[in-house]
Amino acid sequence: MEVINSRGISQYDICPVCKNEVECLDHALLYCAFSSSVWNLWPENPMRIHGIRKSFLDSVFFILSHATLQDLELFFTIAWAIWSNKNRFVHEGSGLSPDQVWKSAKANAEDFACAVIRDHNGQVVAVLCKPLQACFFAELTEIMALEQGVLLAQEPQLPRIIVESDSSNAIQAIQENTTGSSFGHLI
Ligand SMILES: [Zn+2]
Repeated sequence: MEVINSRGISQYDICPVCKNEVECLDHALLYCAFSSSVWNLWPENPMRIHGIRKSFLDSVFFILSHATLQDLELFFTIAWAIWSNKNRFVHEGSGLSPDQVWKSAKANAEDFACAVIRDHNGQVVAVLCKPLQACFFAELTEIMALEQGVLLAQEPQLPRIIVESDSSNAIQAIQENTTGSSFGHLI
């Protein structure tokens, strides 16, 4: 810390978690020793397997083009859990352990609805990941993700879209216009 102070760097620029490095987005989410420990607890972490971790944005693009939607949801949930924990350090002076952050991220991964818009070449145009207000059944979460995707597609006023979902029941319910089900209000 003294070395950092002697370089003219304010204590407000220092990472509140490790108190050892200058804080920036990539440090907070990827390179901080604490954050690395959390990412290393994800056994199937595509970035660890493929060794891609130049920046957080690079990681996002890598996950978008090489991993599944479930991986994308877990990726954003872990990043969100690491960021929330950093804020705990700022406001409360202490936070969770890497294991606790990883477990809370894993438990919350199903409570995120993610939607990805790709163009006709498969290139990513827009991404939206949103925490849900409560824990829902998998099919309802899929329907909510589809709703977010349709809303996201409305912003650039895309004239024609093709939707994909992991849930065949969700697709079937939309195709059959099943408005009498528990998620009929969304269809
Ligand atoms: Zn740090």
